Amino acid sequence: MATKYVFITGGVVSSLGKGIATSSLGALLRARGYRVTAVKIDPYINVDAGTMRPYEHGEVFVTDDGAETDLDVGTYERFLDIDLARGNNVTTGQVYQTVIDRERRGAYLSQTVQVIPHVTDEIKRRIRAAGEAAHAEIVLVEVGGTVGDIESLPFLEAIRQMRFEEGRDQTLYLHVTLVPYLGTSEEFKTKPTQHSVATLRGYGIQPDALVVRSERPLPDEGRAKIALFSNVEARDVFNAYNAEHVYAVPEMLEQQGIGRFTERRLHLEKVVPELHVWHDAVRTLREPAGRVRIAVVGKYVAMPDAYLSLNEALVHAGIANDVAVDVEWVPAEDLAAADVGAGDLDFLDAYDGVLVPGGFGVRGIEGKVRAARLARERGVPYLGICLGMQVAVIEYARHVAGLEAANSTEFDPYTPHPVVALMPEQLEVDGMGGTMRLGSWPMRLSPGTRLAALYDAEAGGVVHERHRHRYEVAPDAVAPLVEAGLVVAGVTPGMEGRGEGLVEAIELPDHPYYVGVQSHPEFRSRLMRPSPPFAGFIAAAKARADAAPSGAATTAGAVADADAP
Ligand code: GLN
Repeated sequence: MATKYVFITGGVVSSLGKGIATSSLGALLRARGYRVTAVKIDPYINVDAGTMRPYEHGEVFVTDDGAETDLDVGTYERFLDIDLARGNNVTTGQVYQTVIDRERRGAYLSQTVQVIPHVTDEIKRRIRAAGEAAHAEIVLVEVGGTVGDIESLPFLEAIRQMRFEEGRDQTLYLHVTLVPYLGTSEEFKTKPTQHSVATLRGYGIQPDALVVRSERPLPDEGRAKIALFSNVEARDVFNAYNAEHVYAVPEMLEQQGIGRFTERRLHLEKVVPELHVWHDAVRTLREPAGRVRIAVVGKYVAMPDAYLSLNEALVHAGIANDVAVDVEWVPAEDLAAADVGAGDLDFLDAYDGVLVPGGFGVRGIEGKVRAARLARERGVPYLGICLGMQVAVIEYARHVAGLEAANSTEFDPYTPHPVVALMPEQLEVDGMGGTMRLGSWPMRLSPGTRLAALYDAEAGGVVHERHRHRYEVAPDAVAPLVEAGLVVAGVTPGMEGRGEGLVEAIELPDHPYYVGVQSHPEFRSRLMRPSPPFAGFIAAAKARADAAPSGAATTAGAVADADAP
């Protein structure tokens, strides 16, 4: 079958949930057995998301091949249960970089190089290349930003041309908009959608269907009105109203017929989709057998999207353990001040688990070290991700191995005990984008460890996780730490000058669950396959919640809320 393309645009406002709409349609096509891939177009001039602030832009999602991409790429992976790559995130920066390089090489001969056709050709080439790389039958292409933005114009022109070139039956335009509900007059307002469809039409694109976001379900009159002014049949106006959980959206849209619509318009066979994974997940999310409370001690706590994959990995691990995971964000900085005493962290004891996520820079570090110490000493399940593992190593060095001033050279370049230090290959790096240790690396698990059991790895005990870091546990710090009782649970073998290998994971044997990983296993976590370190962490948190006398957690929680900084 010739590759088919579904183009998704957005109108009215940004952050509409276009990524969720795209991913949900992708999930419905995957549930029909199609090979699907998805491309996120980001009209910004950054070459990739790696250099952007997570608390403005959301997390940087890392692919197996080490690309630093937009967080929507992560949502695609989770909903479509596929692994994506560098080519699945196209930015203006990449497109222009290629065109300008080509021009400098003289590849355009004596032509004047222009947005149309040279930039638009490069955009189309990248979209098609992503489809070919994945051998996809259907390629979803989400154009970031909002219709009417100056910077998305070349992309809209490119997708307009693609219908012309690929044909009507091979292409589909889906426009996602917002219908605000005015509480005071109890009305759904369709005017902004009307304007945005008109703008899109002005660029030569008539949407085939709309996905209308709204706070509550859109009544039939609203749907009819939108249909009339947008030239779309009423049954092709789909409504994504606020759901309790994003994993409920695929079924919500399927029930309204979006799958059947897509089959009809793209001339696909009629197939009954296999949706039980979604159905079961949503049921567990609605009626969990229990709850656990997890404190995430991090930096970008005001912007939950900064930890999107982490959050989802906790949700997946919760579903696997039949519990709801209540995540509470604790700003590390509040625990970092010099006048914070040991007792000030007592409130963390009331949680079922403490998680220190990845991060960069010195801000809040001492708070994270304190949180790791409390978890270790009080037997609270602990999961340290990347920086969270490094913090656990620093804490162990200081308070167990007797290296009082131990630190990472990232936070104290002059520390007498640099137990975490810059990786030697990072010394030569001077650029900022794409220069860390990125993407998938092997981790050989140490036999007999908790992680080895959790990963249940094939013979040899080698698993792969994704990375994004510049620092590592210093190779010569390993022996004294191990002597003091720290267990190295995994290493990347075969790296020069790293003794047994680069430390990928640590754990403590005499603790309910104390695990740190240098990688970001949250990037590979899926609804159907929760990440093993996360699943083990939530299982331990559940055991702790079950062991607490009933009501104790809530009382302690109330105290914690009052005391929490
Ligand atoms: N800042 C640390 C490093 O670069 C940790 C990075 C992370 O947590 N992603 O190694």
